[in-house]
Amino acid sequence: MEASLTARDRVGIQDFVLLDPHTSESAFLDNLRKRFHENLIYTYIGTLLVSVNPYKELDIYSKKQMDTYMGVNFFELPPHIYALADNVFRTMQSEFNNHFILISGESGAGKTEASKKILQFYAVSCPSTKLLNNVRDRLLLSNPVLEAFGNAKTLKNDNSSRFGKYMDIQFDHQGGAVGGHILSYLLEKSRVVHQNHGERNFHIFYQLVEGGEEDLLRWLGLERNCKNYRYLVQVRWIKTLDWKTVRKALSVIEFSESDTEHLFGIIASVLHLGNIKFDVDARGYATLNNNQEICWGFLIRLKPKQRSPFSVDHAVYARDALAKAIYGRTFNWLVNKINESLANKDSSRKTVIGLLDIYGFEVFSVNSFEQFCINYCNEKLQQLFIELTLKSEQEEYEMEGIEWEPVPYFNNKIICDLVEEKFRGIISLLDEECLRPGEATDITFLEKMEEKIGGHPHFVTHKLGDQKTRKTLDRGDFRLLHYAGEVTYCSDLLDYYSFPVIFKVMRQSKNAIIKHCFPSTEPDSKRRPETVVTQFKSSLVGLTEILMSKEPWYVRCIKPNEAKQPGHFNDVLVRHQVKYLGLMEHLRVRRAGFAYRRKYEIFLQRYKPLCPDTWPNWKGTAAEGVQLLIKHLGYKPDEYKMGSADLSEKIYFFPLFVLLCQGLNFIR
Ligand code: ATP
Ligand code: MG
Repeated sequence: MEASLTARDRVGIQDFVLLDPHTSESAFLDNLRKRFHENLIYTYIGTLLVSVNPYKELDIYSKKQMDTYMGVNFFELPPHIYALADNVFRTMQSEFNNHFILISGESGAGKTEASKKILQFYAVSCPSTKLLNNVRDRLLLSNPVLEAFGNAKTLKNDNSSRFGKYMDIQFDHQGGAVGGHILSYLLEKSRVVHQNHGERNFHIFYQLVEGGEEDLLRWLGLERNCKNYRYLVQVRWIKTLDWKTVRKALSVIEFSESDTEHLFGIIASVLHLGNIKFDVDARGYATLNNNQEICWGFLIRLKPKQRSPFSVDHAVYARDALAKAIYGRTFNWLVNKINESLANKDSSRKTVIGLLDIYGFEVFSVNSFEQFCINYCNEKLQQLFIELTLKSEQEEYEMEGIEWEPVPYFNNKIICDLVEEKFRGIISLLDEECLRPGEATDITFLEKMEEKIGGHPHFVTHKLGDQKTRKTLDRGDFRLLHYAGEVTYCSDLLDYYSFPVIFKVMRQSKNAIIKHCFPSTEPDSKRRPETVVTQFKSSLVGLTEILMSKEPWYVRCIKPNEAKQPGHFNDVLVRHQVKYLGLMEHLRVRRAGFAYRRKYEIFLQRYKPLCPDTWPNWKGTAAEGVQLLIKHLGYKPDEYKMGSADLSEKIYFFPLFVLLCQGLNFIR
């Protein structure tokens, strides 16, 4: 007994549900910290997995480990991402329904690593045939390609995903992975032309310049020196995936020689484009001052004119806008191309597991349009979590007439509405301002917001006076009190003009990818264009719909320190994340709630072999059968509840009971 107490003291408890019922935030933190220092980075809250980034390689991801976790009851082994992956897979198999795993956490917390571990687990554990292996390889190799084009070194993470990613893995009846589909969200295009101090551009630029073959570089007109390109700020060398890995991955996902040629032509063109300088002619228009930079035009087979209809400032702005548009659209093309290669041609019914690896809540010293979108996305996902877990769970108990002590939580719907409500939300107001090019400015946008939403408790500007947070604010800024903390945005969200003239030129390109990315059927400027933010809002609504139709699972990633150091556990930093990831609320709902619930029919079907009276042919109602079964197994009335709502009759079990059952190999 004493020995086990010591062990428990040292390594903590592997499921927070088993901690003292009145667990405080500090006790929660203590448990996480203890485990972290023992290299036990995973802990459960019921079936939710909490993961703390170890910032060092741990020997827990071997094939042997995968085998250990394959097909074993969830709570029988120490917490692991493989246990979660396995549990999701087997639930999908036995219930033949769709699932998603939401991986969340701030930048550098380990989301992308977690999603890769899950994918690797499926790659190894799913049935394999030659055909399936093909799909498996493509699923795995889509990662290095997307990372090369969509990830970059930031101050927070050397391999930060600068886009949101949702990936469906499709399984056939036998559990073989037969296909996949990727949706990407809002690539941070501004990085192409500008990086904050200490950050870098997307990996692919450096990979090409530093690793590209001599012949290729010559053809692209590139020199092997990043310093020569204005879009590539030199930052201390960091290890990224090498050029060869990306090359190989491209060939596995069926990129032809001509595809790759066009693709690298575009990457090089963006670099050349960044080096273009402008002079002023006698009439004040910008002219190109250097013929050698015309190279970019050659690469995407365009003949740029020497003189532009813009002033120099305007021309520089247009040049950067073009570089961003080219890169952004090429990225979308890349995702589509990967999807073609992952598509499953067989139309028979499949089940899917979706993996959502999406940017965490972001606060920088200067926050602009992209942070606004990212944080809005996080509000939406928190809302989904509330809907699917905190709210729905409690409503379900009420509906089923089950006794229940409600758990209070902050519902962030009020903030989602502030951003997205029709006619008066920030996005609507921004849209209205975008319709008045030339007239609208940052300040008119700000004034409009002050007029329409000035009284909102989560919105602050300088003029409104910051009674809500008591901090000063510049006139041009506004502050949102997000569920995860306050963020001050500069109101330059309007900064999204397009340059129809330039885009028209792009349509004449002979580069197949560019041609595809700038189609001539593009909505003309007479029609009201959809703003970027509205497109983003629609894509999030689409994502929410995809997720709502599936069963949710959660991985919450935590970053232990800002210095990317192993062994350091910063209490303040972790406490903040525990708070905004909603872990305490989740624990309260989980503990008070019922960890296991099934419809009577499903429960009976699965467990009736344990009771000779209901086996083999039970003729009564499912509810009566379950009652008989439960009695036969000797459960006490306070260990389970039976739901009574007409349509969704279910049986519920308390968590502790489920743990016992799982120990006995009774319930999956
Ligand atoms: P971002 O939002 O910026 O994309 P992220 O949450 O996806 O961040 P990752 O890129 O997954 O963060 O992780 C950052 C780094 O932390 C990794 O490059 C790796 O060095 C380390 N790391 C994360 N998870 C693990 C792990 N399980 N084991 C070892 N190292 C890890
Ligand atoms: Mg990432």
